[in-house]
Amino acid sequence: MSYKKNTIVNRRKKMDNSKLFGEAANEEQLLKNNYRKYRGENMDIYYNVAICEHAGECVRGNPLVFEVGRKPWIIPDNGDVASNQSVINRCPSGALKYLAKEKN
Ligand code: SF4
Repeated sequence: MSYKKNTIVNRRKKMDNSKLFGEAANEEQLLKNNYRKYRGENMDIYYNVAICEHAGECVRGNPLVFEVGRKPWIIPDNGDVASNQSVINRCPSGALKYLAKEKN
């Protein structure tokens, strides 16, 4: 693997978009920080348009979940939790966050 590719992979591994300002996110903080909620059965996804870099990782990652122009543009239930987490963790700006729901 080239140095550049390796660096990108390593950078991607460090992203954890279940966190906000380095701490485990919660809904109250996300809404207070201008994230909009997109409700799903097993996870909710949150998006802050003001900090989106329009890098497109989300729509390339899973266009069934993230589709610009559709309303709502994010449908969490169109993907499974693990793959949604993986796509959201590639969001470089932190504009996407997620909270998985615990099932009993
Ligand atoms: S991956 Fe993040 S920064 Fe890129 S377009 Fe999607 S929400 Fe915006």
